[in-house]
Amino acid sequence: MIQETIRLYGLFGDPVGHSLSPFFQNEAFKTLGINAVYFPFTVKAEDLAGAVAAIRHLNMGGVNLTIPHKEAVIPLLDKVEGDAALSGSVNTIVNRGGELTGYSTDGEGFLLSLEREAGFDPRGKVCIILGAGGAARAVAFRLAQEEPAALYLVNRGEERATALQEDLRSRLGFQAEHLTSPTELEKAAVAADLVINATPVGMYPESHRMPAFPLEYCRPGCLVCDLVYRPLETIWLKKAGKLGLSVLGGLGMLIYQGMLSCQLWTGRMPEEAPLRAAVMRILDR
Ligand code: NAP
Repeated sequence: MIQETIRLYGLFGDPVGHSLSPFFQNEAFKTLGINAVYFPFTVKAEDLAGAVAAIRHLNMGGVNLTIPHKEAVIPLLDKVEGDAALSGSVNTIVNRGGELTGYSTDGEGFLLSLEREAGFDPRGKVCIILGAGGAARAVAFRLAQEEPAALYLVNRGEERATALQEDLRSRLGFQAEHLTSPTELEKAAVAADLVINATPVGMYPESHRMPAFPLEYCRPGCLVCDLVYRPLETIWLKKAGKLGLSVLGGLGMLIYQGMLSCQLWTGRMPEEAPLRAAVMRILDR
């Protein structure tokens, strides 16, 4: 019902046209019976401060943030909590009476996907993350808090991997190892319980590409995850499956991080099944 009491939520990013969040969050409000609406807003980097001020002025319930705003938004907020404060990346803002608090649900969304879809507990396990961008950072900070036996970082460029390693050390006192040589990679692959692709390699329209990682060295039972969800099963996961390894795609993380954002705004966790179905309808188009 479009009336005065309707609550407005949205996504700030540039671009936002590709995002599934509007379909997802509007469906979530519907399943919860909440009178709210969620819009995608194209917000250029130079307009972010004005857009954040508008959350207060328009009394919006909150927003999600995507590229390029997740880090830049932090100085504009009143508070930043939990994983967002640790990782320096915000994907959800909640407006409580004009006070804006930043959160990150990406890492927790990944952890829920691991637990619920793969029955995997990272405690005491050897974990490898490929990539050192925003997604890798969220996953690394969450995994590091789950007391893994080891966390290895692998990245194309030196700079972001070293920065992530240093942030994990200074903010959590956690020592991750940064692997660079093929020999180090092969040794880590042999020991790995969990390997995660947190790079866009293999994502549509370049779905024929695969991360450079020696999967053939992994033990049976090792869980191979791809955060890419377009396609739902990347050729990297297909290869892992053929090698007899367990596999997990990125759709679950997408769904759970969205459910957690909705819970932060409304105080209620939406039901998973109708949301999964809604996302699948869009992905099938
Ligand atoms: P990002 O911040 O741009 O980081 C990309 C990372 O991948 C960087 O470490 C980059 O290395 C590396 N990389 C990029 N192109 C590469 C290539 N051709 N070869 C090797 N490494 C490459 O991106 P992001 O936000 O972390 O997203 C990464 C992926 O995760 C995307 O596919 C995104 O769709 C997916 N994702 C999924 C979810 C989910 O809910 N399932 C959530 C977030 C992200 P350099 O440091 O050397 O540039």
